[in-house]
Amino acid sequence: MPPVSAIPSRLCLGPGPSPVPPRVLAALAHPTIGHLDPAFLALMDEVRDGLRHVFATTNAMTLAMSGTGSAGMETVIVNLVEPGDRVLVGVNGVFGGRLAEVARRTGAEVTTVDAPWGRALDRDALAAAIARSSPHVVAVVHAETSTGVANDIAGLADLVHARDGLLVVDCVTSLAGMPVEIDAWGVDAAYSGTQKCLSCPPGLSPVTLSPRAVARLDRRRTKVPSWYFDLTLLKSYWGQERAYHHTAPINMLYALHEALAIVREEGLPARFLRHRAAHERLAAAVDELGMTFVSEAGHRLPMLNAIAAPAGVDEAAIRRRLLDEHGIEIGGGLGDFKGKAWRIGLMGHGATTESVDTVVGALRALLA
Ligand SMILES: *Cc1c(COP(=O)(O)O)cnc(C)c1O
Repeated sequence: MPPVSAIPSRLCLGPGPSPVPPRVLAALAHPTIGHLDPAFLALMDEVRDGLRHVFATTNAMTLAMSGTGSAGMETVIVNLVEPGDRVLVGVNGVFGGRLAEVARRTGAEVTTVDAPWGRALDRDALAAAIARSSPHVVAVVHAETSTGVANDIAGLADLVHARDGLLVVDCVTSLAGMPVEIDAWGVDAAYSGTQKCLSCPPGLSPVTLSPRAVARLDRRRTKVPSWYFDLTLLKSYWGQERAYHHTAPINMLYALHEALAIVREEGLPARFLRHRAAHERLAAAVDELGMTFVSEAGHRLPMLNAIAAPAGVDEAAIRRRLLDEHGIEIGGGLGDFKGKAWRIGLMGHGATTESVDTVVGALRALLA
């Protein structure tokens, strides 16, 4: 069996994972201790504080679920939705579609408000759908990684709360790369992943629930259908009782702790500006190369740039050569954009001038 050291290094500029800084990799390699060791429990408290900071929330129920971003999606949905509940999902890409599918599997009555790929969700259409069905839960993706589009969240909670619903937001790609304001926006539940703008390996999913969402959880008529993701059980491990539920992925939590420390040292405003500056540098190069974005102007994500592959170019072949000849990974299109677009991620540690110049230089050479 060849050693892991035989795996080549890559510059990860796709839709995730993002480049992981050496400090985070070093934390991951720290010797494993027990998941009920007081030293480890203290580290968990610090992770929770760090997550509250990036989510901009004071929510008591803030934790890191074991699993990738989809585990956070599943956690939020299975805990807040019961069979027969009305769930409204905004769908303008793969991840909105996934949210709707997860909700359907709980036995909820799911309706969607759709927008074409590359466009943001329409606020009036969402408002009309909320008024029509008074959903128990409204779920929207903040940063739709499959299309490079940002959906507006501010102002949505008022519409949802007026009908006594809960607002769920997917912050997998947005968290720590652009402003996410859980409390100020009135979001009731949000989840993220470690391998996007937090620049940690994949494996944990930060989740936060507002007091209103916790009250809904406490009032459930039925048991949470997933044992592993049951927050009524997990809150005893992350809370004061420290009751064993499942073994925490110790070393992943070391890594997340270090990633959150890096975020604090940089400061969120500076981090958001760095992502924005990298995006603007790439957008200028895209323009200069005569290429165009497939995502709507005014709603483009800084950390995920979805660009139309030039006509007559085999986009998959170029991606393959970027990887083989330049050691750079970028993403291909999904769904409506399959075979038609590239997705260049400038996430976390990857959102730098050097990354942009490296990928643009390589693309320029391959397209010449
Ligand atoms: C990546 C991503 C997910 C899923 O996360 P995984 O870590 O792949 O499970 C969910 N939503 C969005 C918006 C994402 O970008």
